[in-house]
Amino acid sequence: MFKRIGHKLILTFAGIAAVGLGMIVLFYTDQQQDSLFDQNEKMMNKVTQSVIQGLQTVMLAGYADIAQDFAVNLQNVKGIVDFRILRTDGNEAFLDNKTISNVNQRKDEELFEPREEETVRRILPSDYLELRNAIATREITRIYTSSESGEKLLTFIAPIKNSKECHECHGSKDPVRGVVKITTSLVEVERAVNASRQQAYLLSGPFLLLIIVVTSIMVKRTIVIPITRVTTAMISVSRGDLTLKVPVLGRDEISVMARSFNRMSEKLKSTYEGLEEEHDKLTTLVLSAHDGMIITDRQGRVVLTNPSAAEILKKSADEIFADGFNHLFDDPNIMRRAIEEQGYIEIEHDNRVLQILASTIQNQEKTIIGSAALIRDVTTEKRLQEELQHLAISDSLTGLYNRRYLDTSLANELGRSQRYGHEMSIIMFDVDHFKLFNDEHGHDQGDRVLQFMSRIMKDQIRILDIPCRYGGEEFLIILPETNHASALAIAERLRKGIEEAAVDGLSVTVSIGVASYPDLVVENYQKFIEAADKALYEAKKAGRNCVRSA
Ligand code: GH3
Ligand code: MG
Ligand code: MG
Repeated sequence: MFKRIGHKLILTFAGIAAVGLGMIVLFYTDQQQDSLFDQNEKMMNKVTQSVIQGLQTVMLAGYADIAQDFAVNLQNVKGIVDFRILRTDGNEAFLDNKTISNVNQRKDEELFEPREEETVRRILPSDYLELRNAIATREITRIYTSSESGEKLLTFIAPIKNSKECHECHGSKDPVRGVVKITTSLVEVERAVNASRQQAYLLSGPFLLLIIVVTSIMVKRTIVIPITRVTTAMISVSRGDLTLKVPVLGRDEISVMARSFNRMSEKLKSTYEGLEEEHDKLTTLVLSAHDGMIITDRQGRVVLTNPSAAEILKKSADEIFADGFNHLFDDPNIMRRAIEEQGYIEIEHDNRVLQILASTIQNQEKTIIGSAALIRDVTTEKRLQEELQHLAISDSLTGLYNRRYLDTSLANELGRSQRYGHEMSIIMFDVDHFKLFNDEHGHDQGDRVLQFMSRIMKDQIRILDIPCRYGGEEFLIILPETNHASALAIAERLRKGIEEAAVDGLSVTVSIGVASYPDLVVENYQKFIEAADKALYEAKKAGRNCVRSA
């Protein structure tokens, strides 16, 4: 029920006001009651004193009998419940002849006539505390009691002092001759007390209502409405509307809160705008990136990818999300290796060459917050690179290795054979009368012959062998792990193949020189070539279209 702060505050204030008012009323009525009882006692005091004085006068006049009548008459006065004149022993006076005979004896004459009938009526026990107190202190004692019907009663026990005037008849022995016991009803007093209490309660009701109304208005104006404004704004902010401002009125705590809130939402707004800008930049970057990007959260779930990734991996974005980071490729070891490696790894995938750079991402506390992978398709670059490499080592006309490659390869092969004692050979050949051929058939035709010869050469050698264009119409083949006899056989087969082949119905012959290691002891590859060249020269000299050994 009382969930709202305003209700709670009003309830609290009303509670405190009610308790406070109640206490004030109680205190006031208590005071009122005390004062009424006090007044009553004072009045009773006066009444009692005047009754005693009246009694004294009657007694001094020698009309003791009238005292009894006086007592009986007083009992009928409204408000007086009981009135008795008692002796100091608690028995009612004027009912026997005890005092009469005492006085007569003292006076030595029959001053008072004895009663015909004597009775003894005990009103109070002789040791009754208040009676004894009244006699001992010679002061009035008061007793508050209740009757059987529940009526509140006040009893006065007032001592009748033995004055000088009394000594003549009663002697001076007892300081107190008896007591007057007056019991009055407190009904009227109580009625007055109740009336004033009721009045107080009746008055406090509207007063409490007034307090509640005033408090409600104050609470609503100073607390509820400002808080509601801030709350409404906060709800709007939580729903994403950062434009709402809370009005700042005054300088109280709520205004401070409203001001702080406005500042906070302004800051949030600028932070949010900054973040959005960064997000846009990042999205543009990721989406437009040529490289594939895959980013995971700390649980390893893929949370971000881009169209390039989908294109390179030949998967849809949904498939990338579903397969997960470790299964971007069929072989899960690829991504594991990529993470372990500190740089790019290169793999062959789907007839393409891919470079993968992957790593875990850590925050400032060195906690892993995700992983990221960058995948680049380098197929074209690789092909281009290979082509360049090939171009750098090959001859453009024939596609054979060029002189530069020949030099390094031969140096390496010879060095290896020398180190391990392996055999190897080289075949060097030169087209016969090629100048003439060119002159007769043209340079282009000569080129075609050279290209055709290269094909024959490639067809006749092993994959290990290295065919090179030494220059012009001269060629050299490196034959690793090949002894002299085998090399001679290959050379002969080659010579024959060229002789028998024809391009556009035209054919040429070649002269061949063969050199082998370790048959020839050579210092370096240049000497090795020189030896083969010498053998070639020998073949030319011998009439061409033949093979000679170095
Ligand atoms: P031989 O070797 O039998 O002694 O006679 P030759 O006519 O072949 O003499 P030489 O080796 O001195 O001449 C080489 C000729 O080869 C000269 C040149 O016209 C020709 N030649 C060299 N390179 C090329 C080439 O790339 N294309 C064509 N078409 N001809 C070339
Ligand atoms: Mg030549
Ligand atoms: Mg020649």
